[in-house]
Amino acid sequence: MRKLLPTSTAGSLPKPSWLAEPEKLWSPWKLEGDELLEAKQDALRLSLQEQQHAGIDIVSDGEQTRQHFVTTFIEHLDGVDFEQRETVRIRDRYDASVPTVVGAVSRQKPVFVEDAKFLRQQTKQPIKWALPGPMTMIDTLYDNHYKSREKLAWEFAKILNQEAKELEAAGVDIIQFDEPAFNVFFDDVNDWGVATLERAIEGLKCETAVHICYGYGIKANTDWKKTLGSEWRQYEEIFPKLQQSSIGIISLECQNSRVPMDLIELIRGKKVMVGAIDVATNNIETPEEVANTLRKALEFVDADKLYPATNCGMTPLSRQVARGKLHTLSAGAEIVRRELLA
Ligand SMILES: [Zn+2]
Repeated sequence: MRKLLPTSTAGSLPKPSWLAEPEKLWSPWKLEGDELLEAKQDALRLSLQEQQHAGIDIVSDGEQTRQHFVTTFIEHLDGVDFEQRETVRIRDRYDASVPTVVGAVSRQKPVFVEDAKFLRQQTKQPIKWALPGPMTMIDTLYDNHYKSREKLAWEFAKILNQEAKELEAAGVDIIQFDEPAFNVFFDDVNDWGVATLERAIEGLKCETAVHICYGYGIKANTDWKKTLGSEWRQYEEIFPKLQQSSIGIISLECQNSRVPMDLIELIRGKKVMVGAIDVATNNIETPEEVANTLRKALEFVDADKLYPATNCGMTPLSRQVARGKLHTLSAGAEIVRRELLA
């Protein structure tokens, strides 16, 4: 990225109310068939325009084309039965009814490649596309076939790699894998989690990122955060392994989080997407608050490797709040950019 401190969002943006019920995860679509397809593309265009008006440098589809960041990808694969549901504990935190793995998993056709091509046609700016990471995928399913979290993760990594290569060919500049599960299952991350992620990016020439956060601003997550004490040191367990990995960018939650900023020292050398916008509150940060977070991060990240971003996706927020937060992210980054260039 040529521009200093290029801004981006971690992922999702709110959907218009004519597409899906707003401020809600897993919100069902309001249309179907061709009407739905057209509506998703219209929403993508709006979401892109909101990012552009706010001055966001690396744009995305705002995840307008998916109902959920993990399940929509899985819905397109063979081997998973969405009718057969079991209740499992997700990220060791909350129970959810999830689909069952009933046979070998495979991808018969591309999942998001057409959507990515559509986004590519709309803009010349760098574009980022998000996929779920292998560990977060297995954590959102009941496995009645492989009976091994690790085996299933390796299978998903292969499938993700197929999709990622086609996204790259479609003109995506940064492919991001969302791995909130990395903040929970530390031993697995170190044993095979990072390795499966490296399998997912094997052979890619575009930039790659992993997004690790404390989750959307939903109650299960905010309640969990309350139990984590005054310092959140989860990243400490996995950063050394990630520092040595082939993944290019690491996306973190830093705004209003209790993550000690100096943990970033453990990934020195990597590009870091620093979350400078809290997605768990409707309060819109001031540009100066955003700038402060970025200044603190600059003690541990070289300026040419710092990418200002949001803590996580903004799907659960209102469009108005999300819009305000995008503008303030740009304004805050601009303050620090000027300081660096002065
Ligand atoms: Zn997140």
